[in-house]
Amino acid sequence: MNFLELRTFILHSMRMSHIYQPVMIKRLLNGNGRASKREIAAAILSYDDSQIEYYEKITTNMVGPVLKRNGVVDKVGSQYVLPNFETYSPQEVSELVSICEEKLDTYIKKRGEKIWTHRRRSEGYIPGTVRYEVLKRASYRCELCGISADEKALEVDHIEPRSHGGADAIENFQALCYSCNAMKRDRDGTDFRGIRALYDDRETGCIFCETTRRTIRFENSLCLAFDDNYPVVPGHLLVIPKRHISDYFGLRSAERNCMHSLIEQARDELMRLDPKIKGFNIGFNNGTTAGQTVMHCHAHIMPRRQGDIDDPVGGIRNIIPGKGNYYS
Ligand code: 5GP
Ligand code: ZN
Repeated sequence: MNFLELRTFILHSMRMSHIYQPVMIKRLLNGNGRASKREIAAAILSYDDSQIEYYEKITTNMVGPVLKRNGVVDKVGSQYVLPNFETYSPQEVSELVSICEEKLDTYIKKRGEKIWTHRRRSEGYIPGTVRYEVLKRASYRCELCGISADEKALEVDHIEPRSHGGADAIENFQALCYSCNAMKRDRDGTDFRGIRALYDDRETGCIFCETTRRTIRFENSLCLAFDDNYPVVPGHLLVIPKRHISDYFGLRSAERNCMHSLIEQARDELMRLDPKIKGFNIGFNNGTTAGQTVMHCHAHIMPRRQGDIDDPVGGIRNIIPGKGNYYS
């Protein structure tokens, strides 16, 4: 192509479905007509705000404060400055740059690819829409320490790592800040051994472990929902983890997410089928002292309709008769 042809292509023929084509052409033009795959990828990356924002957060929350504490940088408005930079000679500047490069070289050679595995692992195969849903579900807070995304960059993490049988499903994702994610990684391999086998735990003779296929109303990877045999109200459902575990406190995070997702599905479906349903009681009995009779964890989902009892005040407070209404 000559200049005019390329100009015409860019102006009139290039059909863009993303930013890639003009970025690649621009990079080639700026590189004397040549660029490696890596150089082109780096050029595309410079337009990817989500990546840039991630490193902006690293700068604001980690490296900026560390260098400031050590008196290396100052912050002036939104800029970082090296104090007394104007007193350095050009030779001194290039000597300092070379020392930084040497430090980088040595560090990268010593640690190799490992320094990026957290980025690859936390984001490698999680599509943007799923990431968005996970962060939204977590209300943009770390699901371990609760810190807000404004203060620390959040990463989307596999609760049960893929390498140990964890699924690429929204129930198995959580939002973690980079510190909690790093801590979790350090424990990898000890915590998650045998996960796949663990989720297969069933107990013979347990009526919920032996739930027959045809009675199941909703199901996802780790949980089931079915009708209660002795419904307290019409539509009373039970949501259980497939694994035999006695109560709520034994649930793993992925199972809790799976339960919640079935509870929401059940709510939507029950309300669709019966527009009279206006509310729900959702509850777990944990332990015989609390009234549990089937020792396989289950959530009761009890749809409520206007007037189904005379005085609904207090809802589950009524487990102690007479205590529903705290005014009386
Ligand atoms: P818990 O008292 O342990 O909280 O609740 C046990 C629930 O299981 C009760 O609501 C009871 O009606 C229900 N249930 C008991 N036996 C069976 C059964 O064989 N099949 C089903 N689907 N539900 C049952
Ligand atoms: Zn069971």
